[in-house]
Amino acid sequence: MRQNRAMLVDILSKEELNPFRIAQEQFDEAAEIMKLDSAARALLREPLRVLEVQIPVKMRNGTVNVFKGFRVQHNDARGPAKGGIRFHPMETLDTVKALAMWMTWKTAVADIPLGGGKGGVICDPKQMNKSELEALSRGYIRAVAKIIGPDNDVPAPDVYTDPQIMAWMMDEYSRLSGKYEPAVITGKPVEVGGSLGRTDATAMGGMYNIREAAKYLKIDLKKAKFAIQGFGNAGSFAAKLISRMFGGKVVAVSDSKGGIYSPSGLDVEKAIHYKESNGSLEGFPGAEKVSNEQLLQLDVDILVPAAIENQLRKDNADKVKAKLVAELANGPTTPEADKILAEKGVFVIPDFLCNSGGVTVSYFEWVQDRYGYFWSEDEVYQYLDKKMTKAFKDVLTTYEDMGKKVNMRMAAYIVAVKKVEHAMRLRGWI
Ligand code: NAD
Repeated sequence: MRQNRAMLVDILSKEELNPFRIAQEQFDEAAEIMKLDSAARALLREPLRVLEVQIPVKMRNGTVNVFKGFRVQHNDARGPAKGGIRFHPMETLDTVKALAMWMTWKTAVADIPLGGGKGGVICDPKQMNKSELEALSRGYIRAVAKIIGPDNDVPAPDVYTDPQIMAWMMDEYSRLSGKYEPAVITGKPVEVGGSLGRTDATAMGGMYNIREAAKYLKIDLKKAKFAIQGFGNAGSFAAKLISRMFGGKVVAVSDSKGGIYSPSGLDVEKAIHYKESNGSLEGFPGAEKVSNEQLLQLDVDILVPAAIENQLRKDNADKVKAKLVAELANGPTTPEADKILAEKGVFVIPDFLCNSGGVTVSYFEWVQDRYGYFWSEDEVYQYLDKKMTKAFKDVLTTYEDMGKKVNMRMAAYIVAVKKVEHAMRLRGWI
């Protein structure tokens, strides 16, 4: 009996953190505020299309492994679906569905003419060699080729997929089409149709958002202290840009093994080199050790979650001391934590606004591929700054127009859902 109860509690707590349930709950709240009609609600709370595929790959030991993959198109009313592909041992269809839905809101809030999609393969890329990874990448594209394409659905890299994988995927799709098709996928190396500025685009977009939020909140970024959770693509570029663009102090950073903290500020370049040569931040000289949990509660001005989902929850949100939380990660804050942060007066730049720089430069890459003319890095950053500043201001205006009765996440939902609903109505879907 007691064991059954423990199992039930376990299941319930997992369900509470199910990203798709969270994405739907956030959408339902926005739909309620907006008095969205039932047809729009029904269409938007589920994906338009879900494809589940089996990918056989010949492994180096001669056996054939069959991997499961997904491609989800949440909505394409405003343009082709857009969203990354994750290779992860714990990948689930519900995570892919949640991320696809967040992509719809992200492309809408950034005001780029694309929809929302996402892909994933259940695999452990750390256990695979280069040829197995190439075979899996090509196999995935053959399996989903019927529903992707420059005018249908444009994938990109995400957790554990990189520019090399995008190059193989683009090549496989081009072979199937019988012609060079660089615009089928973004995040490619620049030599095969990639865009300059894509690598640090997510972090750069986050910086433009932080700059605008700091103006609004009257935070002096030169004197501000930052803590960053996650030291991968998003987190490590953010750390570099914070000192380069603002002159602010990064006092703590972390990776999956834990974090390092120095109240007088860390030497970010040294920390990056240290992680590259040691594989983790553990033992970085001149800094204290902190856990990922402690990092979230440090006495800083700005907290940047840049790792994984569900880091700020009802059990720890009230311990956050930062005035501003800039969500570079997708889904780092649960709905319960959101309420606690709002009550404490913590200003949150929501994930699909704060990290929309990545998809915006992906869109620039798709545009450049389609007209075969490539921009300089400065041009990319200039256009990105314009897009991000406008997106932040649109959300802030809605937040203020609503008398600050909703938080910034809800304001962003309202901006995004309105655009998608309008497009569906104009197209005669509802
Ligand atoms: P990444 O794989 O390059 O880095 C992830 C980092 O998080 C690593 O440093 C890892 O050690 C750390 N990490 C993993 N588990 C952790 C844990 N339990 N606690 C603390 N740290 C942990 O991935 P990324 O591309 O930097 O993505 C990070 C987040 O940003 C994800 O939520 C991703 O969806 C989101 N995001 C990334 C991009 C992009 O362009 N890279 C764009 C939009 C959103």
